[in-house]
Amino acid sequence: MYKFTQAGDRYVLSIDNHQEMMGALAAFCKEQGIRCGAVYGIGAVCNATFRFLDPATKKYVDKTFEEQMELTAITGNISEKDGEVYLHVHVTASRRDYTCIGGHLLRTQVNGACELVVERFEAAAGRYFDEETGLNLYKFD
Ligand code: FE
Repeated sequence: MYKFTQAGDRYVLSIDNHQEMMGALAAFCKEQGIRCGAVYGIGAVCNATFRFLDPATKKYVDKTFEEQMELTAITGNISEKDGEVYLHVHVTASRRDYTCIGGHLLRTQVNGACELVVERFEAAAGRYFDEETGLNLYKFD
Protein backbone atom coordinates (compact mmCIF):
# COMPACT_ATOMS: atom_id res chain seq x y z
CA MET A 1 0.00 0.00 0.00
CA TYR A 2 2.94 2.31 0.76
CA LYS A 3 6.65 2.50 1.42
CA PHE A 4 8.40 4.80 3.84
CA THR A 5 11.60 5.78 5.51
CA GLN A 6 11.96 7.55 8.83
CA ALA A 7 14.25 10.28 10.18
CA GLY A 8 13.42 11.05 13.79
CA ASP A 9 9.87 12.36 13.94
CA ARG A 10 9.63 12.78 10.18
CA TYR A 11 8.65 10.18 7.64
CA VAL A 12 9.03 10.19 3.88
CA LEU A 13 6.09 8.25 2.53
CA SER A 14 5.38 6.95 -0.97
CA ILE A 15 1.83 5.77 -1.58
CA ASP A 16 1.72 2.94 -4.14
CA ASN A 17 0.23 3.49 -7.56
CA HIS A 18 -3.57 2.98 -7.86
CA GLN A 19 -4.10 3.25 -4.09
CA GLU A 20 -6.66 5.58 -2.58
CA MET A 21 -4.47 8.17 -0.85
CA MET A 22 -6.54 9.05 2.22
CA GLY A 23 -7.11 5.42 3.15
CA ALA A 24 -3.44 4.60 2.71
CA LEU A 25 -2.37 7.64 4.75
CA ALA A 26 -4.79 6.75 7.55
CA ALA A 27 -3.50 3.16 7.56
CA PHE A 28 0.07 4.46 7.78
CA CYS A 29 -0.76 6.79 10.70
CA LYS A 30 -2.53 3.96 12.51
CA GLU A 31 0.39 1.58 11.98
CA GLN A 32 2.88 4.17 13.25
CA GLY A 33 0.67 5.32 16.13
CA ILE A 34 0.70 8.96 15.02
CA ARG A 35 -1.91 10.78 17.14
CA CYS A 36 -0.97 14.32 16.24
CA GLY A 37 0.89 15.43 13.16
CA ALA A 38 1.15 17.24 9.88
CA VAL A 39 1.30 16.06 6.29
CA TYR A 40 2.35 17.72 3.07
CA GLY A 41 3.31 16.53 -0.37
CA ILE A 42 2.63 16.20 -4.07
CA GLY A 43 1.18 13.56 -6.37
CA ALA A 44 -0.48 12.51 -9.61
CA VAL A 45 -4.03 11.16 -9.49
CA CYS A 46 -6.88 10.13 -11.82
CA ASN A 47 -9.76 11.41 -9.70
CA ALA A 48 -10.48 13.50 -6.63
CA THR A 49 -13.54 14.01 -4.47
CA PHE A 50 -13.86 17.31 -2.63
CA ARG A 51 -16.27 18.36 0.08
CA PHE A 52 -17.67 21.84 0.50
CA LEU A 53 -19.48 22.84 3.68
CA ASP A 54 -22.05 25.56 3.10
CA PRO A 55 -21.86 27.59 6.34
CA ALA A 56 -25.41 28.91 5.87
CA THR A 57 -27.08 25.50 5.70
CA LYS A 58 -24.29 23.43 7.33
CA LYS A 59 -24.86 20.95 4.52
CA TYR A 60 -22.05 19.17 2.72
CA VAL A 61 -21.77 19.27 -1.04
CA ASP A 62 -19.44 16.59 -2.42
CA LYS A 63 -18.08 16.71 -5.95
CA THR A 64 -15.91 14.22 -7.82
CA PHE A 65 -13.62 15.08 -10.71
CA GLU A 66 -12.71 12.09 -12.90
CA GLU A 67 -9.60 13.15 -14.78
CA GLN A 68 -5.84 13.02 -14.57
CA MET A 69 -4.50 15.78 -12.30
CA GLU A 70 -1.31 16.78 -10.57
CA LEU A 71 -1.73 17.37 -6.87
CA THR A 72 0.47 20.44 -6.75
CA ALA A 73 -0.05 20.93 -3.04
CA ILE A 74 -1.26 18.49 -0.44
CA THR A 75 -1.39 19.94 3.05
CA GLY A 76 -3.12 18.78 6.17
CA ASN A 77 -3.09 17.55 9.71
CA ILE A 78 -3.47 14.34 11.65
CA SER A 79 -5.49 13.94 14.81
CA GLU A 80 -7.87 11.43 16.42
CA LYS A 81 -11.63 11.14 16.66
CA ASP A 82 -13.40 8.35 18.53
CA GLY A 83 -10.12 6.44 18.77
CA GLU A 84 -9.56 6.47 15.00
CA VAL A 85 -7.10 8.41 12.86
CA TYR A 86 -8.72 11.65 11.71
CA LEU A 87 -7.21 13.34 8.66
CA HIS A 88 -7.95 16.90 7.60
CA VAL A 89 -6.41 17.43 4.18
CA HIS A 90 -6.69 20.15 1.56
CA VAL A 91 -5.28 19.94 -1.95
CA THR A 92 -4.78 22.01 -5.03
CA ALA A 93 -5.02 19.96 -8.23
CA SER A 94 -3.76 21.05 -11.63
CA ARG A 95 -5.61 19.87 -14.72
CA ARG A 96 -4.42 19.04 -18.23
CA ASP A 97 -4.92 22.68 -19.25
CA TYR A 98 -2.93 23.87 -16.18
CA THR A 99 -5.88 25.46 -14.48
CA CYS A 100 -6.34 24.44 -10.87
CA ILE A 101 -9.18 23.25 -8.72
CA GLY A 102 -8.98 22.41 -5.07
CA GLY A 103 -10.55 22.08 -1.72
CA HIS A 104 -11.15 19.86 1.24
CA LEU A 105 -10.21 16.37 0.12
CA LEU A 106 -12.33 13.29 0.78
CA ARG A 107 -10.51 10.81 -1.45
CA THR A 108 -8.26 10.55 -4.45
CA GLN A 109 -6.75 7.66 -6.37
CA VAL A 110 -3.04 7.73 -7.14
CA ASN A 111 -2.24 7.40 -10.83
CA GLY A 112 1.50 7.87 -11.03
CA ALA A 113 3.02 8.73 -7.69
CA CYS A 114 2.14 10.25 -4.36
CA GLU A 115 5.02 11.54 -2.26
CA LEU A 116 4.31 12.76 1.23
CA VAL A 117 6.17 14.01 4.26
CA VAL A 118 4.53 13.18 7.58
CA GLU A 119 5.63 14.89 10.77
CA ARG A 120 4.83 13.34 14.11
CA PHE A 121 4.29 15.61 17.10
CA GLU A 122 4.68 14.26 20.61
CA ALA A 123 1.19 15.39 21.53
CA ALA A 124 -2.37 14.17 21.31
CA ALA A 125 -5.04 16.03 19.36
CA GLY A 126 -8.68 15.04 19.44
CA ARG A 127 -11.78 16.28 17.65
CA TYR A 128 -15.26 17.25 18.75
CA PHE A 129 -18.31 18.18 16.71
CA ASP A 130 -18.99 21.91 17.02
CA GLU A 131 -22.67 22.80 16.59
CA GLU A 132 -22.05 26.42 15.65
CA THR A 133 -19.78 25.73 12.68
CA GLY A 134 -20.88 22.21 11.80
CA LEU A 135 -17.23 21.19 11.89
CA ASN A 136 -15.16 18.65 13.78
CA LEU A 137 -12.86 21.07 15.58
CA TYR A 138 -9.64 20.37 17.47
CA LYS A 139 -9.94 19.31 21.07
CA PHE A 140 -6.90 19.52 23.33
CA ASP A 141 -6.96 17.99 26.78
FE1 FE B 1 -11.29 21.33 5.44
